[in-house]
Amino acid sequence: MTESRSRQKMTGMPTYDYRAADAANAKECCAEGFEVVQRIAEDPLTTCPECGGPIVRVINAVGFSTKSHKSMMSDANLKKNGFKKLVKEGDGKYRNVLA
Ligand SMILES: [Zn+2]
Repeated sequence: MTESRSRQKMTGMPTYDYRAADAANAKECCAEGFEVVQRIAEDPLTTCPECGGPIVRVINAVGFSTKSHKSMMSDANLKKNGFKKLVKEGDGKYRNVLA
């Protein structure tokens, strides 16, 4: 029941939204965008970890990352909207924690 809360506490890392730089030609894995948990110090991703296509980091617009819209960012909601939540596991590998 407290899974999401404990997970958040565990990672304690910010998440970033990415989407394909060229959405029209992007594969399904990144055309709609996805979320990545990264340390602030980490360089932003430039390629999709799944297909290797070019991606860009999306700066969260007001209303999507604020506390009042926290439920929008819940794992369940992200999954429902087709987002992936990738957590870096080292060696450049990512795991989709919503899978
Ligand atoms: Zn991709």
